[in-house]
Amino acid sequence: MAGDDVVVVGAGAAGLATAIFLRRANPSRSVIVLDGAKKPGAKIVISGGSRCNVTNINVTERDFWGGRSTIVRRILRAFPVDETIAFFREIGVPLHEEGDGKLFPDSNRSRDVLDALLRELSRVGGELRPNRRVVDVVADDEEFAVATTSGDLRAGAVVLATGGKSLPKTGSDGGGLEIARRLGHTIVPTTPALAPLLLADDDAMHRELTGVAHDVELAIRVDGTIAIRLAGAMLWTHFGVSGPVALNASRHWLRAAMDGHAATVTVSFHPGRDFADVDGEWTRLASDHPRMTVHTALARFVPASVASALLRTLRRSVLDTREGHGPSASARGGGAPRETEMDKSTPLAHFARDDRRRLVRALVEWPLPITGTRGYGFAEATAGGIDLTEIDPATMESRVRPGLYLVGEMLDVDGRIGGFNFQWAWCTGRVAGKALASGAART
Ligand SMILES: Cc1cc2nc3c(=O)[nH]c(=O)nc-3n(C[C@H](O)[C@H](O)[C@H](O)COP(=O)(O)OP(=O)(O)OC[C@H]3O[C@@H](n4cnc5c(N)ncnc54)[C@H](O)[C@@H]3O)c2cc1C
Repeated sequence: MAGDDVVVVGAGAAGLATAIFLRRANPSRSVIVLDGAKKPGAKIVISGGSRCNVTNINVTERDFWGGRSTIVRRILRAFPVDETIAFFREIGVPLHEEGDGKLFPDSNRSRDVLDALLRELSRVGGELRPNRRVVDVVADDEEFAVATTSGDLRAGAVVLATGGKSLPKTGSDGGGLEIARRLGHTIVPTTPALAPLLLADDDAMHRELTGVAHDVELAIRVDGTIAIRLAGAMLWTHFGVSGPVALNASRHWLRAAMDGHAATVTVSFHPGRDFADVDGEWTRLASDHPRMTVHTALARFVPASVASALLRTLRRSVLDTREGHGPSASARGGGAPRETEMDKSTPLAHFARDDRRRLVRALVEWPLPITGTRGYGFAEATAGGIDLTEIDPATMESRVRPGLYLVGEMLDVDGRIGGFNFQWAWCTGRVAGKALASGAART
């Protein structure tokens, strides 16, 4: 193999995109794509509930967290969404839009996305070598030595596209990050991202609400100050909470905890509204519908099962407070509850002001007793990774090691739910592919 050739390590979304765009722009530059998996592209196949949320109709740097947003913006602008849509149409995968701007293949089959990418790679003359895990990449003066589980290669340029650490059974286990570290790169400490949240076991609410989903707003406080608010659907599960908003929140909670800060998360069941606003609505409701029960009123805003669970938990906590116990005492079954107005059948006309305000406070700031996340085994992405300032955003070439290119999830960028992580893979692959085609690599 000649020193002009390009070796791409990793045949996921970013690696395949890099090789395709390189060969499309320069068919005379040879490219070999190595992957440790027997059948590469596993993440594409399982993505989006096996439908693959390929991208989003609106993509900006604000949809991503991690490295500097000016760098992210520059890379995103190099391959706008309309060009992504056109690319997929060209390779036989027309896309359609669904809720929140998510774009899926018309066939609703993620397999079709992977097959089309592999077909295109073959059409443009890129060579895929599966079942070849790269164990190291060493740079010498002129070239790179790429050591694999079945023989070594030499290359004029190497693209690392090995993904992050999420779902390691797919082959993306962080080994590529270690190779990048050995090549001189700084790895911003990683945590799972887009991972379901675990809740404390003594809070039985999530168990009884398993399967119920509804819109909420989460406020993530770091050392007592709101760091970010996130809105969207939350799904109660047997272990805690999931759904887009919980998944998006996970990286913020984990990174604050990793940095040694106290991170807490509260739910607002009235997204976008504050205490005074919601209290005003409850006051008006009481005066307009004095005979309406607290439960019926609450069920106007949340599913009836959530209304029942909220009232029950709150009632227990009120009784505990009145009896001088900690809030969890009766939740564990201690003491028979005495009467309180915090009862589902209380008419609004009899709902004491203090109880109403307590309920409203709970509705806008319900604490989620998070104990952790389900980890990399269930995470859809990885936060942290290769420091973005160490790559040139015009080419994706390393500033540390000329001839080395870094793309996709292994970089310190993670997108929110909605097709953004794949768009990052396509964009970084496109930038690297074009740069390599125009001979930006050392030759
Ligand atoms: C369950 C799930 C659902 C998802 N759904 C969506 C979605 O619908 N929309 C969206 O935008 N994002 C989604 N994502 C995120 C998205 O899949 C990733 O962001 C994206 O696949 C990252 O692409 P990548 O090419 O950088 O890395 P990967 O897809 O992880 O690919 C890396 C490749 O490198 C190979 N590799 C790793 N190490 C080596 C090595 N040392 N030698 C050789 N090969 C190696 C791996 O085998 C793998 O094939 C989902 C993720 C998961 C886990």
